[in-house]
Amino acid sequence: MTLTSESYRDEFILPDNKSVCAIKVEPEKQGESHLVHASSRLQPTPDSTCVYLCGNSLGACPKKSQVLIQEELNVWSKLAVEGHFHHPHGRPWTEVLDGVHPLMAEIVGAKPEEVCVMGTLTANLHLMMLQFYKPTSERYKILCEARAFPSDQYAFASQVQNHGFDPKDAIIEIGPREGEFWVREEDILDTIEKEGSKIALVLFGGLSYYTGQWFPMKSVTKTAKAKGCICGWDLAHAVGNVPLSLHEWDVDFAVWCTYKYLNSGPGGIAGFFIHEKWNGMETPKYAGWWGQSVDTRFQMGPKFTPIPGAQGFQQSNPAVLTVASLLGSLQTFKRAGMMGPLRKRSKMLTGKLESLFHQSKFFVPPEKASMRSDPGFTIITPPDPESRGAQLSLLFLPQGTGVMDKVFAGLKEWGVIGDDRKPDVIRLAPTPLYNTEEDVEAAAKYLDVVLASL
Ligand SMILES: *Cc1c(COP(=O)(O)O)cnc(C)c1O
Repeated sequence: MTLTSESYRDEFILPDNKSVCAIKVEPEKQGESHLVHASSRLQPTPDSTCVYLCGNSLGACPKKSQVLIQEELNVWSKLAVEGHFHHPHGRPWTEVLDGVHPLMAEIVGAKPEEVCVMGTLTANLHLMMLQFYKPTSERYKILCEARAFPSDQYAFASQVQNHGFDPKDAIIEIGPREGEFWVREEDILDTIEKEGSKIALVLFGGLSYYTGQWFPMKSVTKTAKAKGCICGWDLAHAVGNVPLSLHEWDVDFAVWCTYKYLNSGPGGIAGFFIHEKWNGMETPKYAGWWGQSVDTRFQMGPKFTPIPGAQGFQQSNPAVLTVASLLGSLQTFKRAGMMGPLRKRSKMLTGKLESLFHQSKFFVPPEKASMRSDPGFTIITPPDPESRGAQLSLLFLPQGTGVMDKVFAGLKEWGVIGDDRKPDVIRLAPTPLYNTEEDVEAAAKYLDVVLASL
């Protein structure tokens, strides 16, 4: 069996070049590549699929999701309100999440009662902070990574302000040291050791959206807990990308979206985790009818008796079309053997992409990045496979000179889709479910072609 056949690419619909890229027709004439023997299959045509390396931003569409969404549309059309209780495919809408929670729990390393599929990421982040961020005059700070995703920054700042604190004082950000690109584990742990008694909440992104660094979740959680802090994680870029053991690591809570590596479609329904040790100690502060115990929910009585665990925090009845979409993707994950085999393949693909980049004459090691005067690039994602997931973040050089914009446009002309983070970064994420070694080879080859043409 070739490695390519281990891909579940056939279970996805990938965009084609004529829909999203203006393809140049004669790539071989445009410049020399270090990959002189690269297969002619790499040559894009208008009808071929894109080299889609953007699953870290919006995962590709699973065929199974299309089927399940169509089924729900059919049930809605034929049965309307009856679909809540009688469903020809065994997913009555009142119970539609029962088939989703166990799969979701497996992905994040939790018990099904510890996870809840609901709402959207930023809203759930606020909800979890309203529940778990309980600042006092001594212990009120939030420790997070520098350059957190903007939504998280705004959420943290608005939460501390709502409690009457000044974000400048109450939010501690840890970034890379001068001249470095990723954060050292010891710097995070030392800060927790030193400032821990003032920190109410340690709340990092599990995996940095910007650099692709996978933070040492286990040691950060352990150190934070030892200092009496609550430890939460935003797993937007970690879920479906790296193996997680939220229960075992003793994480207090976590939130995530599902449209990145989990391929649930734009704006898809999100998820969160609350460790079971909080059962009974934390009851929903912002209750809704869907958190009500299933036996009594439809009695419509005045007394709120929540479902034990994370699902008691549900507020509204779930958006079934986006649940169907997520379920289609999770079933595809399940067929692929879940995170074990996928992580193995992910390491292979990302490792291969990295080693091809290292062979490029335009590659500069990170410590020499500031010395480069000709167009080139470095990689600002940690080289240790245990400190990253699928994504490599490329920093284009010299910084601030517009090289990145030209490269980004150029790559698209060769059918390579990544995403740009202004002013100088392009993120490329070979995802193990649907990307192949050919995708990785094409990305490396055309990056060289484009840089040679500048
Ligand atoms: C993608 C992402 C978001 C997006 O938030 P939404 O509420 O889903 O729009 C927020 N935070 C992080 C860390 C992300 O990576």
